[in-house]
Amino acid sequence: MNDCLFCKIIAGELPTTKLYEDDQVIAILDIMPVNPGHALVIPKTHSERMLETSEEEGAQVLSVAKRIGKALLETNLADGVTLSVNNGEASGQTVFHTHMHVIPRLNGDGLVSWKHGEYEDGEADKIATIVKNQLT
Ligand code: 5GP
Ligand code: ZN
Repeated sequence: MNDCLFCKIIAGELPTTKLYEDDQVIAILDIMPVNPGHALVIPKTHSERMLETSEEEGAQVLSVAKRIGKALLETNLADGVTLSVNNGEASGQTVFHTHMHVIPRLNGDGLVSWKHGEYEDGEADKIATIVKNQLT
């Protein structure tokens, strides 16, 4: 954890552009923005992935992300907002301290999200059963 980039930012050991801070989270500007205003909301307690955060922390991350998203919409930086969280390398996570992206989106900004597929007959029911059996 001591080598964690975001823990160092939270501790004030590395410079950042801070948008917001409270007891549980900070929000900073992403250093390599998808669009200007791209923010990261980061819980202060170290966890690798959002999936492992406490209910309270996860809720506070979302709450602050919503506030920043709404603020961006009031500016000319955003026509829309993408809130996203990568969990694990396969999802594209590169910094292994939980964070939620608040990405300002502009009409016609051309960003591609993901490509959609389709289910074969009966496959959706089978997939749903697999997932439902693991839901706690
Ligand atoms: P991930 O790919 O893990 O979902 O997102 C990590 C994000 O952290 C990336 O968008 C990247 O630009 C951002 N990032 C990486 N290093 C730094 C840094 O030192 N400061 C800030 N503010 N953002 C960073
Ligand atoms: Zn950390």
